[in-house]
Amino acid sequence: MFFIMVLQQCLVIIKPDGIIKSLTGNIITALSETKLKIIGAKIMKVPKALAEEHYKELKAKKPHVFESAIKYITGGFHTDRVLALVYHGDDGIEKIRKICGITNPEDADPVSIRGRYGRINSKTGVFENVVHASDSEENAEKEIKLWFSPSELAEKIYPTKSEKRETEVLAWA
Ligand code: ADP
Repeated sequence: MFFIMVLQQCLVIIKPDGIIKSLTGNIITALSETKLKIIGAKIMKVPKALAEEHYKELKAKKPHVFESAIKYITGGFHTDRVLALVYHGDDGIEKIRKICGITNPEDADPVSIRGRYGRINSKTGVFENVVHASDSEENAEKEIKLWFSPSELAEKIYPTKSEKRETEVLAWA
């Protein structure tokens, strides 16, 4: 008997509660068990438009949590910083999601990241579950293309094209 492995990418976001609780190191250590490669990483403030695009499906699926999910990831409850990471390797999505645990931190495996560090905020009802992880190859591609430009990744995982742009950029003075 043999198993076929699939080379996959997965977007992981250490959410603002993960940052403010100083869990970055713990989370990256836990995810290193997967032996996947990190091919992109950046600390960033999440613009509202990016958050809304990221949670577009959530708006249709769970409209009652959409607004609070936006407020949560843009920093309205904790801090306006997240760490966005792209993992790459065999069966990446399943490996990452197993270690992250399911959405509701109370139901998540207690040794998963969400089970160990997440909480349901008793005032807001928000599942403060510390991390986001892409749940399918299709969503991983959408999310990675939304959060990262090709030049920010250490490997070429999707087809690219050259474009001439005249934009103002911030440079060292
Ligand atoms: P996941 O992040 O596991 O892919 P969803 O895309 O369904 O889950 O939800 C996005 C985020 O919205 C969750 O990670 C969580 O922070 C919040 N959320 C989802 N469902 C609920 C809920 N029923 N009550 C409170 N917060 C929720």
